[in-house]
Amino acid sequence: MTSRSILLALVALASSTAHAAPTADADGRDRFRAIYKELIETNTTLSSGDCTLAATRMAARLKSAGYPDEDLRIFVPDGHPKEGGLIAVLHGSKPDAKAILMLAHVDVVEAKREDWTRDPFTLIEEDGYFYARGTADMKAQAAIWVDNLIRYRESGFRPKRTIKLALTCGEETNGALNGAEWLTQHAREAIDAEFALTEGVDGTLDEKGKPVSLGILAAEKISQNYTFEVTNAGGHSSRPLPDNAIYHLVRAVDRVSRYEFPVDLGDASRGFFTGMSKIIGGADGAAMAAVVRNPMDAAAVAVLDREPNWHAMLRTTCVATMLSAGHATNALPQRARANINCRIVPGVSREEVRLQLAKLADDPAVAVTIPEVRGPIAPPAPLTRRVMGPIEQVAGEIWPGVPVVPALEPGASDAQFLNPAGIPTYGVTGLFTDADGGHIHGLNERIPVKSVYDGRTFLYRLVKLYADQ
Ligand SMILES: [Zn+2]
Repeated sequence: MTSRSILLALVALASSTAHAAPTADADGRDRFRAIYKELIETNTTLSSGDCTLAATRMAARLKSAGYPDEDLRIFVPDGHPKEGGLIAVLHGSKPDAKAILMLAHVDVVEAKREDWTRDPFTLIEEDGYFYARGTADMKAQAAIWVDNLIRYRESGFRPKRTIKLALTCGEETNGALNGAEWLTQHAREAIDAEFALTEGVDGTLDEKGKPVSLGILAAEKISQNYTFEVTNAGGHSSRPLPDNAIYHLVRAVDRVSRYEFPVDLGDASRGFFTGMSKIIGGADGAAMAAVVRNPMDAAAVAVLDREPNWHAMLRTTCVATMLSAGHATNALPQRARANINCRIVPGVSREEVRLQLAKLADDPAVAVTIPEVRGPIAPPAPLTRRVMGPIEQVAGEIWPGVPVVPALEPGASDAQFLNPAGIPTYGVTGLFTDADGGHIHGLNERIPVKSVYDGRTFLYRLVKLYADQ
């Protein structure tokens, strides 16, 4: 590992570019905004950006706030010079108390200037919103983590437990080197913690911008691909045979399309539907309460299945995502292959799902296999009082009466790597986005300005409470 020498060089480089001194505003909001702006205006897309540069700039911020070099580590995976990250540490006073980890990815989804209304890599404040790529996903939280460390140190806060920060790259692009996964394999001790906090499900605002609920990501589905493959001797297309690889395949895929996995509610989905049933009310709310009481209630399930997100939270799902077949327009196909992408609820194994898919294929000509496995499946992080208590307390201070609702994430975050590595990971942001999701990953990504500043207050107090447990 050459990260140590790179660190010294990069920190020296970055700290030579002058940063504004702490401003006079009471809680350093201007300085926070400058950190947020710097992070956003450092392009961190996979195609043309540089996460290592973003991490280095954040390290320089921490260095100028008084963090010594030995507590700032820039890591750069071999062969990926622009996909590095940062680990920073604020030491706790009790050596036997386990650390807590603030985790954020600093990479962002691609954004084309010509498609956007405003420059995606300039932080623009307009009509009460911050606009730019990464304003919501997830440079606000990354900037808040850096700001937290600066403020804790500046105020002389001496936590009982060590507070760690990890900024990583590669979360947004399938197939890219994932920094969080890399850390679990190459720097497991450096990120060891009782639990970690990262992005997840944000809070939701109504049309008037009023907070409806604060989501907590408590469990994630895992994404697993399966291959359906049929091989055949083929032949000339002028003499068709009933034994045709494409026909075998499409019939099997069609049977998958008509199957629903049974409703399977874990703690997180049960918590979500219980909480949301009260917020939403009406027929949907009644259906949510009914499904929690009895997951076999077909009428209630049918109501919830109309909403794709709820449909996905109720069960494991599998869907055909790619097809390839045949080798010539005038030949019987020798090979036909489909990719079936499944999102598996916690507690169900990859093999159980494979057996179910093979049963659906119902054809010995169709081989159902697992092409690639990425990491072990871990149980969801438990929703203990030790974790939930401080969240409810601080949320109650800032957003009185707004319920904290656990959720099962149908997508996946870096928790998928930390949970199996033995670091329970919760998606806690304190950031509220509009009902449209703030165009995350899309055009003109934005987040309400007030949401960012309130989220900053929330995460500052929350991590402080955890750190003194
Ligand atoms: Zn993200």
